Amino acid sequence: MRAAFRNTIAAAVAAAIAVSGASVAHADEIELAPLRTNTATLVDSDGDGLPNIWEEEGVVLADGTEIPLPDWGADPNRPDLFLQLNWMASEYDTLGCDTSAVRECSEANRTSYAPSKQGLDDLVDLFENHGISLHIDAGEHYTNIANYSDAHGGETIDYRGIYFDASRQEAFQLIDTIDQLGERANIFRPGVLGDRMRAGSNATGLSLVGDNTFYVANPGGRANEEQVRNTILHEFGHTLGLRHWGAAKYVEDIAEGSPMQDGYHSVMNYNHQFDYFNYSEQPYFADTPHGKVFIPADWDSLEIASPRIGAYAESIGARAEIIEQPEEIVEIEQPAPVEVAEVHEMVELVPAEEIEVAEAEAQPGAVPAEPVKAEVKAEPKVEVQNQVNIAAIIGGIVAALAALGIGGAFLAMR
Ligand SMILES: [Zn+2]
Repeated sequence: MRAAFRNTIAAAVAAAIAVSGASVAHADEIELAPLRTNTATLVDSDGDGLPNIWEEEGVVLADGTEIPLPDWGADPNRPDLFLQLNWMASEYDTLGCDTSAVRECSEANRTSYAPSKQGLDDLVDLFENHGISLHIDAGEHYTNIANYSDAHGGETIDYRGIYFDASRQEAFQLIDTIDQLGERANIFRPGVLGDRMRAGSNATGLSLVGDNTFYVANPGGRANEEQVRNTILHEFGHTLGLRHWGAAKYVEDIAEGSPMQDGYHSVMNYNHQFDYFNYSEQPYFADTPHGKVFIPADWDSLEIASPRIGAYAESIGARAEIIEQPEEIVEIEQPAPVEVAEVHEMVELVPAEEIEVAEAEAQPGAVPAEPVKAEVKAEPKVEVQNQVNIAAIIGGIVAALAALGIGGAFLAMR
């Protein structure tokens, strides 16, 4: 208990430094990213980013939200992933056609963008079978989180035919969804489902490799439940550090837009996005610019701990049910704010370079995507289920800049 107590002190102090940093005059320098505190001093036995003491005692986040992780089924010795899914309401519902009869209603699309419950069960089971607990908050529609009463997922977004605002970097719009979680982004990774991501595009999604968020596009509502399910797995896989040839750390030499590889049997491979609901179970040898390279199985290389997860808490200890030894639950008051100069050493923006790849996938629609902008690298067309797939691969922040037409130099420098 003594060690745990020390860890608690360390967490509380680190947390306090960060929170004071957010409220000082230099806060304007902290725009996009959450503060990152040094939780490296806390033991995280299962490597899921959530310190053991959080999973054993629960935590209170900076905004006062109590997260009773043990009651939610978190286990310090088994990786836990918390996924929040939100999606667009149908065009019909967004127009209010159930209560009024505006002219547009006769042609309004009634497509639901909700993922199927079966598909979410399939995702949970798949991770379960690989030793990972996937906890999903999909609002009133679905949750598998025990003792969970305050859902944030579900149908919370008004319909719009194109999700991303073309005037703003898509990567930053993705990060917005993380920021919208507020302090809960310490626990949950957000995914959003909706219609087209870009005008005329049939791409199926956009994700940040190694970061916590993704968008699943269902252009025109034509994807079936299994395709949506597989695309969630694919985009979620990017956030867990996978690219289209295996884990990013092993395939960084493979350029965006490179062909798929036959040996890579994974939902991450475009050729299997819709016919293989799994990450790779086996290693393979990838063709890279430096010859054949051994690529371990996806399941052996998932990057589950993320800099955002488990980064910050106000205090330790939040349980809905105290099961044993309540006197051992330790709560540390937040120390007084520290000097700004010290804060700056602790504050760390999530740097742009951590956002390695944002990418667009192909969609199984028959309608070809609109031509990508000249500045964006276009992936060769690939055949999936005998239908045309067009993918625009974008290289993270660099590519997002490219999409704005100022990326040529960056790409050349890269
Ligand atoms: Zn992808």
